[in-house]
Amino acid sequence: MRFLGQILLSLALGYSTLQASTVQSRSFFGKQLDSAILSQALPLSTEELLAYIESQGIRVYFLPLENRNYSKMEAKYLAPPEWILRYRSEYKRDGVLGAYISPILSPSETQIPIILLTDISNRWTILHEFLHVLFEREKTKNKLEDIQKVFERQQASREDFLDLYPKRSDLTRLPSLISTFRDYVLSEIILSKSVSLEEVTIELILLEFVKSGALQNIGTEQIQIAISYAGKNLAAFQSYLNNFKDTSVELEKLLHEAEQTGAPSEKMKQAKVDLNLVHQQLSEIQFELDHIVVKF
Ligand SMILES: [Zn+2]
Repeated sequence: MRFLGQILLSLALGYSTLQASTVQSRSFFGKQLDSAILSQALPLSTEELLAYIESQGIRVYFLPLENRNYSKMEAKYLAPPEWILRYRSEYKRDGVLGAYISPILSPSETQIPIILLTDISNRWTILHEFLHVLFEREKTKNKLEDIQKVFERQQASREDFLDLYPKRSDLTRLPSLISTFRDYVLSEIILSKSVSLEEVTIELILLEFVKSGALQNIGTEQIQIAISYAGKNLAAFQSYLNNFKDTSVELEKLLHEAEQTGAPSEKMKQAKVDLNLVHQQLSEIQFELDHIVVKF
């Protein structure tokens, strides 16, 4: 069905699926997406892009925030379901440009991904939300862990960590504290790759397409917004990372202290392994961050 939709769409829009050559996007944080599908989307006008996205099995809705007359194109995507309309005041307050609603969040039985556009959505926003869908599809295809489960693990380990950390001078509790810290850091990194670092990745990919000419007719104002949005998300993640690094150095010192007091127990040996794993993960992600240059 999707294949047929694609053929009909290419006839209607007058482009051939063979025409646009696949533009490979650089991979950030190990994230993957289907470049062929994205390449088809880059040269399209806003109206064509929306039709193309719908042909990929994604529902597009336009959520009007202001009372005004809607363009013909907007009107085509009006009437989002009742449960989406409930977000209206939040979107209005937060100045949300657009949103991607994962099928796992949809209360409806037909669990399809939804892209929600608002009065201030432009072609960049639409592509941005489309990339979220493509990233999620790839994760599902590669059977990566459900992000909801990672979130629950991050919340639980964070809570345990915050509970144990104030008692860190009690060295007998150190192995528990370190294993909790390990779970917290590892789940936080996975989660960030799906949340704040996915925002960064999307902006960087689109900026690279603008640079290479694969994505055209993007205003300088939009480019500035993208750079500052990516920078803001990167800075927030970096500050998380710095806190983790400080804590891991502190725990290492405590572990060293504990080792001085006698022969290391099995638990202490495991704590050392856990802490090494944390160090390794933190330096790997730091290495990636150090090689990202957000400029244009
Ligand atoms: Zn986003």
